[in-house]
Amino acid sequence: MFSDLRPLPLDPLWALQNAHRDDPRPYKLNLGIGIYRDAHGHTPVLSAVQHAERHLAEAAPSKVYRPLSGNADFTAAMTRLLLGDHPPTLDRAVTVQTVGGTGALRTLADLIASAHPDATVWTSNPGYANHHPLMRAAGLLTAEYPWQDDGTGQTDLRPILGALGHAQPGDILLVQGCCHNPTGLDLTEESWHALAQHCQARGLIPLIDMAYQGLGQGLTEDAQGLRIMTRHLGTVLIAASCSKNMGLYCERTGTATVLVPHPREKPAVLSVLEGVARRTYSMPPEHGAAIAAALLHDPEPWHQELDTMRDRIRTVRAALGAALRAHHAPRDLLSIERHQGMFSLLPLTPHQMDTLREQHAIYGTREGRINIAGIPDDAITPLAQALVTVYGREVVGR
Ligand code: PMP
Repeated sequence: MFSDLRPLPLDPLWALQNAHRDDPRPYKLNLGIGIYRDAHGHTPVLSAVQHAERHLAEAAPSKVYRPLSGNADFTAAMTRLLLGDHPPTLDRAVTVQTVGGTGALRTLADLIASAHPDATVWTSNPGYANHHPLMRAAGLLTAEYPWQDDGTGQTDLRPILGALGHAQPGDILLVQGCCHNPTGLDLTEESWHALAQHCQARGLIPLIDMAYQGLGQGLTEDAQGLRIMTRHLGTVLIAASCSKNMGLYCERTGTATVLVPHPREKPAVLSVLEGVARRTYSMPPEHGAAIAAALLHDPEPWHQELDTMRDRIRTVRAALGAALRAHHAPRDLLSIERHQGMFSLLPLTPHQMDTLREQHAIYGTREGRINIAGIPDDAITPLAQALVTVYGREVVGR
């Protein structure tokens, strides 16, 4: 059966992880994968999570099977976290628990494939590396719209709307809600309104990927674009992840939310979502959802730790910007100061990223993405020096 099977090339991000693991140089720096690290380079379990886990262990609730849609306390609290306390919108929402944000994207892709198999899913370029494979695995077609700086540090809306001019009614606009991976470029409030109007006028359905809520400006601020969409439009799909903002990476905790124009459409949507779960893994795992439900129920301790993470990312960004300036970095490199969230996309070529890895033991993706949230304090100056060495200095008088 398998004699003709050829191994697939390793996913570039995991290949980078392995290369970093096997690099003997002691000063190596892993800025590949998107993981938050503290000033000393560690990713500890949040205290709020530890507290919830202790409580769960003591209460020892039964491990009997749960509903196909997952933990109802968790899904209700997540729906409010995403949509805000807005009863007319909450009444139109169906949410199921999923296996992380990835599982949410795949579950929604399967729902789209059931309801409208001919839909094309439009994703940003550059964008999250797994969007195309996830959507195609569900049998959907994909297309791209550009995601770039307009020269003032804002995401340029005109080429996005230009590309979406080729979309058909019923197509899906997959857009990241905040802290865009990999560019760190987000939409302004005005651009979100324009995008919502475009979706309305052209009959496009937004699928908002919320993988970093709370790590940009704050939990409410980061949901602003999503809430503009949900208040303007009848149908909106949302994939959410608790991996980063709760540090629950390996617990695989997330949600898929579907907003329908009228509550009477909810039972059919829920049944299809439950059907996807049933034929894939039956039901999502309880542990991460039970932890997340506890955090959302008593949010203050979690909010404090989330604030700490967000503040650190911003501090590291500012410190890296200052170090780059001190080393006379060209203006292109300083764009990292304006980005939001965990990532920045550097203007380096794949070859320059290879040089960074080979000569300086600094690991970012070949596309130029670095995880700002993963830079320990003592690596900021060496990183700035290496970037300027590889990319070049500002040429005075140019
Ligand atoms: N969407 C985006 C934009 C992401 O960056 C990620 C994770 N890096 C995901 C979805 C998937 O999240 P999870 O790890 O919860 O599956």
